[in-house]
Amino acid sequence: MSSTLRPHRPSALSRAGHPVPAERRLRLVLRLSAAVLMLAIFALDTFTTLEGAVAVLYVVAVLLVARTYRRGDIVIAAVGTAALTLVAYVDMHGTAPFGAQTVRAFVSLAAIGIAAVLALQNQSAMRTLSDQAMLLDLSHDMIFVRDVSGRITSWNRTAQEVYGWPPEDAVGRRADELLKTRYPGPREAVESELLDTGRWEGTLEQTTRSGSTLVLDSRWVLQRDRAGRPVAVMETHTDVTERKAAYAALVRSERRYRRMFDASRIGVVEQDWSAVRAELDALDLQDAAAIEAHAAAHPQFIRQARRLARIRDVNPAFAAMLGAVGTAYPASVDDLLGESDRTFGEALAAFARGDAFHEGESEIIGADGRRVPVLFAITFPSPEDGDANVLVFVIDNTERRQAQDALFTAQTELAHAARVSTLGELTASIAHEVNQPLMAVVTNGEAGMRWLRRETPDLPEVESAIARIISEGRRAAEIVHRIRAFLAKVPVQRQRMEVASVVEEAARLVQHELARERVKLRVDIAAHLPAVDGDRVQLQQVLVNLMVNAGQAMASQPAPRMVTLTAAPASDGQVAIRVHDTGPGIAAEHLARLFDPFFTTRPQGMGMGLAISRTIAEAHGGRLHVESEPGHGAAFTLLLPTARPDATT
Ligand code: ADP
Repeated sequence: MSSTLRPHRPSALSRAGHPVPAERRLRLVLRLSAAVLMLAIFALDTFTTLEGAVAVLYVVAVLLVARTYRRGDIVIAAVGTAALTLVAYVDMHGTAPFGAQTVRAFVSLAAIGIAAVLALQNQSAMRTLSDQAMLLDLSHDMIFVRDVSGRITSWNRTAQEVYGWPPEDAVGRRADELLKTRYPGPREAVESELLDTGRWEGTLEQTTRSGSTLVLDSRWVLQRDRAGRPVAVMETHTDVTERKAAYAALVRSERRYRRMFDASRIGVVEQDWSAVRAELDALDLQDAAAIEAHAAAHPQFIRQARRLARIRDVNPAFAAMLGAVGTAYPASVDDLLGESDRTFGEALAAFARGDAFHEGESEIIGADGRRVPVLFAITFPSPEDGDANVLVFVIDNTERRQAQDALFTAQTELAHAARVSTLGELTASIAHEVNQPLMAVVTNGEAGMRWLRRETPDLPEVESAIARIISEGRRAAEIVHRIRAFLAKVPVQRQRMEVASVVEEAARLVQHELARERVKLRVDIAAHLPAVDGDRVQLQQVLVNLMVNAGQAMASQPAPRMVTLTAAPASDGQVAIRVHDTGPGIAAEHLARLFDPFFTTRPQGMGMGLAISRTIAEAHGGRLHVESEPGHGAAFTLLLPTARPDATT
C-alpha cells in the first residue's frame, strides 16, 4: 500500500504483473546465500566434532530463504536442511544406539521445522497484506496515510500520478504544506471533529506539483493504538474538479435562463407533458391520424389531454398577458384555452410525431375572461430529456390583429372609393356588357323562329337555340349582378379556380358569335397550369371582350380569320392568357390610348371594353397589355398571379 510497505513486499509486481528485475536479483542472491550457508553448515557439521549442535544454524538458512517470500523456496530449504542434518547424523553416528547426539539432531530438526512453519505463515500474511496494498494502488482515489503530526507515511499510486510527487519525495513531508491544502473552515475545527468522531468528510482544495488546483471530496479516518491514542490518519481524496466545474456551469446556465425567463417581454410558459405522453402511450396513439381518429370517436379526448398538460411556471410577461393576480397562474393548458380552440389538437399531433417545434396562432383566456389573440411557439424537449420541460413562447397579438383589421377596413374603403371614381366607366359598361348577351338572345331567338317556321319544324335545333337564349340571358343577369356587387361596399369575393376551365368556358360563350362571323377559334391550353384566385365572371368578361373585339376587327377582311386563345405559364409564377388574331392590327398612334375609357375606332363602339378589362386585370393583381404590328394582327395578353398556397379559397 505504501512506500513503507513496498520494500517488504514479497513480490512487487510491475503494472503488467511481472516481477521487476531488482526483485528477481534479490531473490537470486538470497537463494545463493542460503545454499552457500547450508553447504558451510553441512561441512562444519560433518567435518568438525561439534556434534550436531551446528545443525541448529540451518534455521538461519531457512530464515534467509524466507526473505524471498516464496512458498517453494521455504519448503525446499526446510526439506534440504532437514535432509542434510540427517545425512550428517547418519554419516557420523551410523546405526549407533540413541544418545545425546540423537536428541540434538531432533532439536535441530524441530528448530528447522518451526522456522519453516513460521516463515510460511509470515509469507501468507505478507501475501494478504500485499494484495490489500495492491488494491489501494488500484484505487482511482488519492490515498495517503499520515501520522498525527501530519507527516506522510505512505502514498498510493494514484496520489503519485495525480499530485505528481513520487513516494520517496512525499513520504516524510507534511501533507498540508506539500499539497497547500485549503479547508472550507478553520483547520482546528476539522482536527477536532476528526478526534471526536474518528472521521471527517468535506470538500477541500489542494495544489499539485505542476501548480494546478484540484477540488477534492475528502474522507479522513483516524487510527488509534490499543491504548486509544491517535497514531495515524488515512486520507482518501476524490478529484471532483471537473464535476464541480460542470455543476457550476450548470448553475450559471440555469441562472442565465432564469434571468431571460423573468426579464423577457415574450411570455414563457413551462409545461409538463409527461402525463400527456403516458395517455398517448396507453391509447397507442403515435401519429396525427391516430389522434384525429380517436378524437373523432371520443369528443372529450382533446379536452382531457389539455387538462393533462400541466403548467409548471409562467414568467411575468405571460402573467401580465393573462392579467393574472399575484403569483397565481392556471394549473393546466385547459384553463388557458377556450372551448372552440383547435390549436391544441395540432400541437398534440406534433408532439406525438416527435416534432421538436410547433407554432401557431391562437387565443388564450385572460384572468377576467377576456380573449387575448396570441402567436405561440412550442419547443418539445428531445426524448432523452423527457417531457417534463415543454417550453411555450407566447406573443400578444392584440395590437397586430387590430392593425390588420384597420388595414383591411382601409383597403375596403379605398377599393370602394376607387370603384365610385370609376362609376362613370361602370355606368357605360352596363350597356356595353349587357348588350352582348342581349344581341345573342335576339340572334338565337330569330334562328329558333326560323327553325320553327319550317314546313317540318326542326325541333332539336329550336331546342338548342332556346338553350342558348337561356344561357345568354343568365349571363346578362350575372353581369348585372356582378356590376351591382362591384358598386356595393363589399370586399371582392374571390374563388380559387383552374385557368383551363375559365378559358374553356369563355371560349364556349363566344364560339357561336365568332362562327357567325366565320372566324375560326383555336384554343391551346398548357397542361398542369397552376390555379388562380379571382372572380370567375369578371375574368370571363375580359376574355369574351378580347375575343369579340378580335372578331369585330376581322369582320371586314377576307378569310382566313383566326383567333388563337392560349394559356401558358409565364415568368414570376404568373399565368399568361393570350388572345391573338389575324386582323389588321392596331395603328401605332392608337396604341397609347387603346385602354382609355371611351376610346373607340368603331362607329357603334363605346370604347369601354378594354378600359374595364384592364381595371379587372389590375384588381386581380395582374396586367393586361397589347402587342401589335399593323398588318399582322393584335395580341392581347392577360397576366394573372397564381393562387398563393396559403390563401383561403
Ligand atoms: P369598342 O370595342 O367598343 O370600340 P374597346 O375598348 O373594346 O371598345 O376597344 C377599343 C378599340 O380598340 C376598338 O375600337 C378598336 O379600335 C381597338 N381594338 C380592340 N381590339 C382590337 C383588335 N383585336 N384588333 C384591332 N383593334 C382592336
